[in-house]
Amino acid sequence: MKKTKISKAVLSFLLILTLCTGCAPASVITDPTAAVPTASPAPPPADASAEESPWHKFTRTDMSVFDTVISLIGFAKEQAEFDAIADEAVRRLREFDHIFDGYNEYEGLHNLYYVNRYAAQEPVEIPEPLFDLLSWCKEQWEAGLRETNVAMGAVLSIWHEYRDAGTKNPDAAQLPPMEDLQSASQHVSFDQVTLDEEKHTVFFSDPALTLDIGAVAKGYAADAIADYLYSVMPSFLLSLGGNVYAGQPPLDGRAAWAVGVQDPKHSTEVGSGGVLDVLDVHDKTVVTSGDYWRYYVVDGERYHHIIDPETLMPSRKMLSVTILCDSSVLADFLSTALFVLSYEDGRKLADSLEGVEVMWVLPDGTVEATEGMADYARSLRGR
Ligand code: AMP
Ligand code: MG
Repeated sequence: MKKTKISKAVLSFLLILTLCTGCAPASVITDPTAAVPTASPAPPPADASAEESPWHKFTRTDMSVFDTVISLIGFAKEQAEFDAIADEAVRRLREFDHIFDGYNEYEGLHNLYYVNRYAAQEPVEIPEPLFDLLSWCKEQWEAGLRETNVAMGAVLSIWHEYRDAGTKNPDAAQLPPMEDLQSASQHVSFDQVTLDEEKHTVFFSDPALTLDIGAVAKGYAADAIADYLYSVMPSFLLSLGGNVYAGQPPLDGRAAWAVGVQDPKHSTEVGSGGVLDVLDVHDKTVVTSGDYWRYYVVDGERYHHIIDPETLMPSRKMLSVTILCDSSVLADFLSTALFVLSYEDGRKLADSLEGVEVMWVLPDGTVEATEGMADYARSLRGR
């Protein structure tokens, strides 16, 4: 994985994507290349005529992993070649899905579910990707970046339980009691999670602590799959339900891939509400956190899935935050963190990080962006 030192989903999508809101996956697959006119100003040179190009565009959609819609677009010479690559990408993604799964056990696999069950009893040896991801998250915690706290499982699982119940039975939807949230919040310190580099084990000194890696798992997997794709089919566009990774430019003469940012103001689910902006990118990842994902309604009000560690309630400071950079795990981590932070604090953090661009949509619909976002966002060009 790319180890970006900062010391964080999405919508990106026009490209594709879209994904599942806590209950039924509402999937909309849009080929951005077709749906969005390319922003690349220059047409392909005359000698690179599409007719003669050995490259063809192929697409694979898969809904069997990560509880979301996976989409892969790539340029290859023939269908069989693309199919083999897409099969392998999905196989690798399934491995990550099992390792990062906090709800199901798999025979012989010390996955997140197993860790949450047993790591307070004794150190649990865990697979490399899980160890690597937890170590990276702990580094961010130690660096003081605590708005995205994957050790907050005790609090998040309460919200998850009430959201599930409220989604299944909307008339009886309730908010979790604040006393329950507060007592769970006593058990969220990453300091109580020991990771042993040599033995590759994880141990919880606090028996009530659990991990929830929902804020970063797809980002980590996107980086790993992008690494694989670069080695076999560098011109690709990968979307994991919102975590988008754009490889080298499309081999059809366009200079970049078009990735849509969903308009959160009019969105009631992922894929609804239209497109706020289009980012023209290659060799970058785009990740959005939004208030239209995984929410439920209590007394007419939406309660979404990104919880402010301070208030223990869904954060109301943003409608969405989109991160553009070259590490998807970082983009995933930051999109959650900046969703929780005020615009001012988030802006300071974003400006301190090299190579990280951000687009915020505030509660009144105002759009803010870092300076460098103007290089990618169509609405900001020439600003
Ligand atoms: P994302 O859509 O990437 O912002 O991730 C949201 C998911 O991360 C939620 O569904 C929870 O599983 C988890 N989560 C919510 N709030 C936080 C938080 N403050 N820190 C860490 N994980 C969180
Ligand atoms: Mg995230």
